[in-house]
Amino acid sequence: MILSSTKNGNLKASFEEALFRSLPADNGLYMPDYIPKVSNVFIDTIQDRTFNEIALEVSKTLFGDTIPASDIAKVIERAFDFDAPTVALDDHTHVLELFHGPSMAFKDFGARFMASIMSYFLEKSQKEIHILVATSGDTGGAVAQGFFNLPNIKVTILYPSGKVSDIQEKQLTTLGHNVTALELSGTFDDCQALVKQAFLDQELNQKFNLASANSINIARLIPQSFYYFRAYAQVKERGLPVVFSVPSGNFGNLSAGVLAQRMGLPVGHFIAATNQNDVVPRYLTSGNYEPLPSVETISNAMDVGSPSNFVRLNRFFGDELTNIQANVTGYSYTDTQTRNAIQQIAQKYAYVACPHTAVGYLGLKAFQSTQQPGQSVGVCLATAHPAKFLNVVDKAVGYSTPVPSRLKELLDKPKKSIPMDTHFSTFKAYLLG
Ligand SMILES: *Cc1c(COP(=O)(O)O)cnc(C)c1O
Repeated sequence: MILSSTKNGNLKASFEEALFRSLPADNGLYMPDYIPKVSNVFIDTIQDRTFNEIALEVSKTLFGDTIPASDIAKVIERAFDFDAPTVALDDHTHVLELFHGPSMAFKDFGARFMASIMSYFLEKSQKEIHILVATSGDTGGAVAQGFFNLPNIKVTILYPSGKVSDIQEKQLTTLGHNVTALELSGTFDDCQALVKQAFLDQELNQKFNLASANSINIARLIPQSFYYFRAYAQVKERGLPVVFSVPSGNFGNLSAGVLAQRMGLPVGHFIAATNQNDVVPRYLTSGNYEPLPSVETISNAMDVGSPSNFVRLNRFFGDELTNIQANVTGYSYTDTQTRNAIQQIAQKYAYVACPHTAVGYLGLKAFQSTQQPGQSVGVCLATAHPAKFLNVVDKAVGYSTPVPSRLKELLDKPKKSIPMDTHFSTFKAYLLG
């Protein structure tokens, strides 16, 4: 597998380089030069395979002989001890539950795979790395859990004090060992600015091998394609075109679905479902891309005004507007519509959806209403467990959502964080000391 920058096709990198560098020097995004196809036999027999068997086949196809197959198998076994099951709401509506990993959001798939494959390369090189990550909520929890206790890896997470939910904060601050949480008296943007400055600081880079675990790392995108194949395997027997509805913010998740399609997964159509941060749905209608400052909503993991994977999404479609429009339809929803959808899904199907999933459900129903009835089987990606958003969800459904023991135990654990101001000198002194 060879990758190159979206800004300059001559700026090449091996997978290992792209993994540890995250971004090419010209600030583009890494894309695979060539996207190989899975075999017809694989698609024909996919319904008989487990998640990890599917992950292995897709990885072997992508990595070719860059990584020995037996090593890829070990990387996958270490990463995934959880599945991505589909639940049928009715004959034409399924949810793909992506919240059965340690932090109970889909970001576990990317974080666990990235941690596992980084460890694999570090075992061989005997290097030590220091991961810095700024989080507004869900990414930090998945990265903390994913890299917890791995040898040769130190993790420092920066989060804005008072601006993440209780459960999210506990996911960052209760692990200890190689994971340290810095609680900043500032905003998410302040956290991100400090991380960016650290990557540019000569002294820090001489002393440490700094790495980033943000969502534009290609190693987070690849494993997210696995569950599109897994979903297809579970709904394939219905014999209808599969429509995937993807609740979206930075558009990494949808890009991974398009990667799966490019590798040969039969996909009928994609829905890009957003909250009021609707730059991509507007782009899909008008052809004009106008990033804006983000606005706060109840589906806060999708509050993104300038999606970091937009360039990648377009590139997968050859930067042709008509090509992307033929495959992706955008819909956006207000918080009121989202709350009503949570209530409606609970009443109609006795199923509790998180706010992000509810946005995806609305997009799926809107698209299916443009088709003849029964023309497709819809799969809405359920991106987080509803108990991560109790304040919103309980009010909408009118009863208390059961909290899984994994999250309940967390709330009783003591928080350990290091309070910090937003000056770079403070942060740097901390890292050096
Ligand atoms: C991160 C996140 C999203 C958005 O995913 P993107 O890949 O950024 O589009 C949606 N829902 C939840 C719960 C998330 O944590």
